Amino acid sequence: MIDYILFDMDNTLYPESSGLGPAMRDRMNAFTADFLKVSPERAQELRRKYLPVYGTTLRWLQQCHGLEAVHRFMDEVHPKNIHAYIGKNPGLRRMIEDLPVGVSVLTNSPPEHAERILSELGIEDLFDHVFDITFNDYNGKPYESCFTKVLSTVAMEAHQVLLVDDVPDYLIPFRDLGGQILLMDETGRHRDSGLPSIREILELPDYLMEHQLISFQR
Ligand SMILES: [Mg+2]
Repeated sequence: MIDYILFDMDNTLYPESSGLGPAMRDRMNAFTADFLKVSPERAQELRRKYLPVYGTTLRWLQQCHGLEAVHRFMDEVHPKNIHAYIGKNPGLRRMIEDLPVGVSVLTNSPPEHAERILSELGIEDLFDHVFDITFNDYNGKPYESCFTKVLSTVAMEAHQVLLVDDVPDYLIPFRDLGGQILLMDETGRHRDSGLPSIREILELPDYLMEHQLISFQR
């Protein structure tokens, strides 16, 4: 059984197929290419290599390449016209409202982007906390200090908490701490990972019931 759910936001609370996640990935590749003076393809290779280590492109560029323009980075990689990609999702809202456990968001995105996304989806008022990248001084997932600070803030032990995220490299360190994990794998890209997974967020209640993680009083 679980007592709490931590939701990743991007590509978890809205699908990758919305195009918003891929648009941000392309923007990060373009920013990185420009900053490091390499091709966008090379930028993508480097990001893939270092993301599991540093958690975010921002942290990697700061620690390894001296990036100081944090606000310029945040501004350039997060689109403002998100309504072109996503919109109100009443089904998602009902699903979260019906969960009989506490819920928070844990995202490596900046607060402005998180606010924009959650309001656009119409779910901004449903969470105890929205833990964004500033919460642990830009050391987000997969830093252990991020997870332990979140757990102490929500007053839960890792084994009581399910983390739902589309990035295996964020989930595995949380599992290593004793947490429960669920991969959002829309395209089946990680089907060989052996991690428990669902393909879209509205499958969550059935998953929780099937695995006896939650009992719904209906
Ligand atoms: Mg995500």
